[in-house]
Amino acid sequence: MKNVAVFGATGSIGTSALDVIARHPDRFRASVLSAHRNVEALAELCARHQPDLAIIADAALENALASALKSRGLRTQAAAGESALEQAAAGTQCDVVLAAIVGAAGLRSTLAAAHAGKRLLLANKEAAVMAGPLLRAALGQGGGELVPVDSEHNALFQCLPDSHDELHRRGGVRKLWLTASGGPFRGRTRAQLHDITPDQACAHPNWRMGRKISVDSATLMNKGLEVIEAQVLFGVDADAIEVVVHPQSMVHSLVEYVDGSFLAQLGQPDMRTAIAHALAWPERIEAGVARLDPRKLASLDFEAPDEETFRCLALAREAMHAGGDAPALLNAANEIAVAAFLAGTLPFLAIPDVIEAVLNELPPSPVVNVETLLERDLTARSVSRRIIGQQC
Ligand code: NAD
Ligand code: MG
Repeated sequence: MKNVAVFGATGSIGTSALDVIARHPDRFRASVLSAHRNVEALAELCARHQPDLAIIADAALENALASALKSRGLRTQAAAGESALEQAAAGTQCDVVLAAIVGAAGLRSTLAAAHAGKRLLLANKEAAVMAGPLLRAALGQGGGELVPVDSEHNALFQCLPDSHDELHRRGGVRKLWLTASGGPFRGRTRAQLHDITPDQACAHPNWRMGRKISVDSATLMNKGLEVIEAQVLFGVDADAIEVVVHPQSMVHSLVEYVDGSFLAQLGQPDMRTAIAHALAWPERIEAGVARLDPRKLASLDFEAPDEETFRCLALAREAMHAGGDAPALLNAANEIAVAAFLAGTLPFLAIPDVIEAVLNELPPSPVVNVETLLERDLTARSVSRRIIGQQC
C-alpha cells in the first residue's frame, strides 16, 4: 500500500489523480491532500478520500479548515501554510508526492519531496523550469525517483531507455520531439489575435486544464516551459529538443534514435494515463481512460510551430540558452503577465512583450540556492508589474 500526497488536490490534475487512486484501493491511498484557498472543496475531498492530513496553503484559513473537517465528523488533521506542505512532503505520512500545484507556489514542496527521496510525480513543470539545478541536486541527494506527469515528458520517459544519464552517448538518442497541439489559435495570424478574451484562450480544443496552463497553451509558452522541463528532466543538450505541432493530441511525444528509429507514445488526451503510469511504474494499472481504437484514427497531422506569431516559444528557448536563473525570470514574468491577461488588464498579444522586456532588463545570475532564486523571482514579478502598468 502506497500513501500518496496529492498537492493541488482541487485542481485539474489533482482531481484526475484522485480518480485513479480511488480505482485502486488495494494499492494506493490519498493520505495528504492540499488546496490553495477553497476550504469547502478541500473538505469535500477529505470526506470522500479520508486522508490523514489536509493542508490549506493560505495560512489564514487553518481554523476554517479545521471546523469544516470537524463539522463533517472527519478524523483528518488540518494544517496550513507553505511550511506545512514542505513538512508533509518530507514526512512519514506519504511515500509518493504528486506535485500538482500550479506555478512557483509549488517549488518548495516539490524540492522537499525530492530531498526526502520520495517518489516524485511531477506535474508542476514551473518548479523544474525555475530550479532545474536545485531539483537535480535534490533528487541526487534524496535518491528517490522522479516520474514525469506532464504528458509529453511522461511519453518521453516511456520511450527512452531505462538509464536516462548521458543519453546521447549511452542510449543512442538523437532528438527528443515534444508534440504540441498548437492550442485554440493554431493557424491564426497576429492580426486575428488582437481581441482575444480569457475565455477564448482557455477553450482548449483537446484538453480540460486549469486556466493558467490553458493560457500558456494558447501562447505556446506551455511548450516553451516544456522544452526547458525536458532539458532538466532528461539532461540532454538544448539543441536536441524539437517541437512539432500535432493537432490531434494523440501522439504525446517521440524519441528519435541515431539508427533512424522513432519511438512514440500514443493515447487519448486524458491525463489519467500519465498519472496512472507514474503511480504504478514500472507496472501498469487501469486508469479509467476510454480505449483508443487505432482504426478510428483517421489521420495524424504534424507541422512546424509558428514561432513568429507565438513568440513565447522562442523566448523560452532564449532563456534556456541564456542559462542561470533566466528560466526562473521567464517563468515569473509569464505568471504575472498571464494573471494580468486573465484579469482583463493585459491584451493577449502583450504577454510575450512583457516577458521579453523583463528578460532584457534583468541579466541572468547563477542559481545558488532556493532563497536567492525566490528573491529573483520576486524581483522579476515586480519588474513585470511595473512594465504592465506602463503599457496599460
Ligand atoms: P489548476 O489551476 O486546475 O489547479 C491548481 C491547484 O494548485 C489547485 O488545487 C489549487 O488550489 C492549487 N494552488 C493554486 N495556487 C496555489 C498556491 N499559491 N499555493 C498552494 N496551492 C495552490 O491547475 P492544473 O491544470 O491542475 O495544473 C497543475 C500543474 O500541473 C501546473 O503546473 C500545470 O502546468 C501542470 N500540468 C497540468 C496539466 C493538465 O492537464 N491540467 C497537464 C500537464 C501539466
Ligand atoms: Mg504537457
